[in-house]
Amino acid sequence: MKEKENMENIRKIRAYCILAKGDTPKMINKETFLIPSQSNSNKKYKVTFTNTWTCECPDFKYRKIKCKHIQAVEMWIHLRQTLMNNDILELHNEIQQIKCIYCSSFNVVKDGIRKNKHGKKQRYRCKDCGKRFVLDPVKGHKANGKLIALSMDLYFKGLSLRKIADTIYQFYGIKIHHDTIRRWINKFMSRIKSM
Ligand SMILES: [Zn+2]
Ligand SMILES: [Zn+2]
Repeated sequence: MKEKENMENIRKIRAYCILAKGDTPKMINKETFLIPSQSNSNKKYKVTFTNTWTCECPDFKYRKIKCKHIQAVEMWIHLRQTLMNNDILELHNEIQQIKCIYCSSFNVVKDGIRKNKHGKKQRYRCKDCGKRFVLDPVKGHKANGKLIALSMDLYFKGLSLRKIADTIYQFYGIKIHHDTIRRWINKFMSRIKSM
């Protein structure tokens, strides 16, 4: 039983990563949700509630445990019930490190696309100070959902924060301070514990 609990806990973190990435479930009806596969971007898994949750993915089929898709749907329903949309937005932005360049608030929303000769850029508006801005791509997207998911994975495999930072650098050529990774993990854990 302990084994099952451990396996489900790991999937809980992955589920959180799915939501943090912005892959929120699509509700078909009250009992049916679609959620993107994390390994194949063209594929979606159907998560259904009858007496209990089921999912189409192999993890659920073969192991009969709550897979990350089921947990993402549960978490999403729970989040929607308990948090205001603003909280979700702020958390999402904080994880992605999208913050106002004027007042450092994470309470920002997307505000159209700015086009110039270099191409298109996402523009944001700060809900606290009201200013609009675009992000320096290096600064703003340093921490995307993929890196966070990878960090969490490595952390639960027992790697040290420095080793995780090193692995990210080896694979992606992106330098992330181990204190940043510590912040992500703490943030995730506190959110997950409060659910
Ligand atoms: Zn699944
Ligand atoms: Zn601001």
